[in-house]
Amino acid sequence: MVEAVFLDRDGVLNELVLNSATREYEPPHRIEDMKLFPYVIECLGKLQGAGYDLFLVSNQPDVAKGKTTLEALEKIHKKFDQLLTSRGIYFKEYYYCYHHPQGLIPEYSHECMCRKPKPFFLLKAEEKHNIDLGNSWMIGDRDTDIECGKAGGTKTILIEEPLSVHKRGNSLPDYKVKDLREAVEIIIQNTDEK
Ligand SMILES: [Mg+2]
Ligand SMILES: [Zn+2]
Repeated sequence: MVEAVFLDRDGVLNELVLNSATREYEPPHRIEDMKLFPYVIECLGKLQGAGYDLFLVSNQPDVAKGKTTLEALEKIHKKFDQLLTSRGIYFKEYYYCYHHPQGLIPEYSHECMCRKPKPFFLLKAEEKHNIDLGNSWMIGDRDTDIECGKAGGTKTILIEEPLSVHKRGNSLPDYKVKDLREAVEIIIQNTDEK
């Protein structure tokens, strides 16, 4: 069986963006706002080098909320993918949920199977890619990421990204860290001990 690292995207791999109208930090809606944190390539390279399969698990409800379009998010995803693959980082799957239970756009506004904290995508990866979830990891900056990992049976690491502080506080991760660099250190240490 294969061990995996499941990663949330916004606030973990790329910068959150200030919406000047609402004063809230959001995922990028414009292609020029998709900026990886400077340490991401090196960090993901270490995980890849240690033999982990990488999976992205990202909620993108702003389509359902009418704040952006699927087309715009697909362009941003394409840039995200290029930034990674051009530097030798290959995710096994990119899993996105575009739904929200209380959105405005009917097509995407309903309860769905795939929105974190539901572990749908982790279980999908387990089945399709023979992932050993008990020896895998989920990394995110919100309670919903940690709850998703726990529901799927992975170990969990909460990144305490300052801009998303109001989205967490009620989950019990195995580890809390400052950023992806510390998360990767923990994973590598645990890998060496086995
Ligand atoms: Mg996030
Ligand atoms: Zn969904």
